[in-house]
Amino acid sequence: MKDRFKITLGILAVSITLGCGSSKVNSQASKKPKNIILLIGDGMGLSQVSASYFYKDTTPNFERFNTIGLIKTSAADALVCDSAASATAYATGVTTYNGAIAVDMQKQPVATIIEKITPKNISTGIISTSSIVHATPASFYAHESSRKSYDEIASYLPNSNIDFIAGGGKQFLDKNKREDKRDIFQELIDKGYSVETKNLPKVASEKKQAIFLADDGMLKMLEGRGDFLPSATKIALEKLSKNENGFFLMVEGAQIDWGGHSNEAEYLISELIDFDNTIGVALDFAANNGETLVIVTADHETGGFTLAADGGNYNKIKPMFSTGGHSATMIPIFAEGPGQEDFGGIYKNTTLFQKMMNIFNKK
Ligand code: MG
Ligand code: ZN
Repeated sequence: MKDRFKITLGILAVSITLGCGSSKVNSQASKKPKNIILLIGDGMGLSQVSASYFYKDTTPNFERFNTIGLIKTSAADALVCDSAASATAYATGVTTYNGAIAVDMQKQPVATIIEKITPKNISTGIISTSSIVHATPASFYAHESSRKSYDEIASYLPNSNIDFIAGGGKQFLDKNKREDKRDIFQELIDKGYSVETKNLPKVASEKKQAIFLADDGMLKMLEGRGDFLPSATKIALEKLSKNENGFFLMVEGAQIDWGGHSNEAEYLISELIDFDNTIGVALDFAANNGETLVIVTADHETGGFTLAADGGNYNKIKPMFSTGGHSATMIPIFAEGPGQEDFGGIYKNTTLFQKMMNIFNKK
């Protein structure tokens, strides 16, 4: 990838010209979606999205979206948001403090979108390249006052009713590693799950499916994670789309954020490209399915990342960072499919929850 840091603006112009058309989308715009795929690129600000144009060999899937907006990310107690408060905003519609997992300012549980739509017999799924008990996925099914309560968060999984779960985090389910010695794997099996801890299955199971492929976070792309995220998304869509009542699938590209924290451009960009490939899987499915809204956003920006000119050379990009933490910059949101027209504009993170619930409440 390193040689591509020297990519010229000329090449960029070509890749934009070759951008995918999206004519089929407009005919869908007025229909109501049955399904929502929410893809969250953790730490993915506009410079991160822009990087896909400079460092991906093919036209980024971001270009297939026609509705684009910006999200204001601040938490209740801080201008700069963390992943827990942000995911809680998306999952529950409540503005809360940094570190909160689907609890409000008084540390009281707030029902998540998954908990609200499960009684409507809508199928649900969560996939992440972090551990499944990490802040972003956790906020969709657990209620804890601290994002660090990983054992407690894992305890919510057996009763979560989530139909498809995939990510890392084995150590938090393992009776030999948990303080309370609970065997969360067995509890999942007792609740009717097919549990997989070695490889991603090739096809979806008839049962509810829980797949844990790392002790903690999944490998980095640079370490050989391969196609876990796009492939798990494909299997989830195959499984969830069997439900006539519709589905909600949350897919997280978690490590865009980790590359930002460590100020490693190659790490960040390789994770971003993997996330873009996963967006492609979601958009291809939605284009075939016709009743699926695809939403792509971030939770906050990480690293204060910029695509700076390399000194005086305006034909050479030098990716740079301004912080090892998060930043308060607004983050982009993209929507494609029936109902997309509701997702443009500038709005708070909590509004995304309301917009998604409007769709499921119309059912
Ligand atoms: Mg995350
Ligand atoms: Zn972060």
